[in-house]
Amino acid sequence: MKIISDPLELKEYLKDKNQSVGFVPTMGALHEGHISLMNRASEENELLVVSIFVNPTQFLKGEDLDKYPSRKEADKKICSLAGVDILFFPNADDIYSSDEVTLQAPNIRGYVLEGRSRPGHFSGVLTVVMKLLNIVSPTKAYFGKKDAQQLNLIMLMVKQLFMSVEIIPVDTVREADGLALSSRNIYLNEYDRKEALKISASLHLCSRMVSRSVLDCKEIIESMRETLYPLEIVYVEILNRDFEKIDVIEIGNSVILVEVISGETRLLDNIWL
Ligand code: AMP
Repeated sequence: MKIISDPLELKEYLKDKNQSVGFVPTMGALHEGHISLMNRASEENELLVVSIFVNPTQFLKGEDLDKYPSRKEADKKICSLAGVDILFFPNADDIYSSDEVTLQAPNIRGYVLEGRSRPGHFSGVLTVVMKLLNIVSPTKAYFGKKDAQQLNLIMLMVKQLFMSVEIIPVDTVREADGLALSSRNIYLNEYDRKEALKISASLHLCSRMVSRSVLDCKEIIESMRETLYPLEIVYVEILNRDFEKIDVIEIGNSVILVEVISGETRLLDNIWL
């Protein structure tokens, strides 16, 4: 596995490779969720490129940028075992300078749900993803469905800016008890970890209701909120795959999204029905 930190060196290295490139951008503290993205990318491409970069511009003031988990050596080992060909491991000043061209997340879709409590977060995400995609020029780039709004906005960016990369959504990986894997789960103490199981329980409840033909979104959301009690709910929302609100579940075209704060940790999860 080759480790590169300089964007221009990576561009140069990849320039004459006549191979399909699968790319998995991450912020490190790698877990099975990230590994499933890598495995998928490795199956579908000749070269696997992974980036580890804790992107400062997607953190708002007062958020956990400084204490975001960092496990460089373990991450390198995980990448090597996962068959990564190139690990792109830049520093912030390899990616950003003091006077920057940036992308602006769309005014509506970038400022609802997570974007509402974290205004500007998705502008930072889109800017860094654009930079990373331009550096790597992958054939396909892999993103988790767990971050459904992020995935939706990246797909929108690729479409609206006529980019040629193919974005591949990958299913959410969970712990055996249902909790979606996240680098932030290590912030949870024992009590919060247990409470957090109400998130996947509420999503299970939703799919059970749908399987009993309860399709009214208001009714489903009310029941989900009861299951989540007393967690601090940021939102429980049911949208179609274009991220528009719907009143009735459209099977095959719905996303049910939950965000809560457990202790001080923001936890996201969703199911696609
Ligand atoms: P992060 O390091 O949190 O920025 O995540 C990097 C990529 O891994 C993003 O595309 C995430 O959506 C994806 N990801 C994070 N957690 C999971 C999970 N539990 N299952 C599948 N993909 C995930």
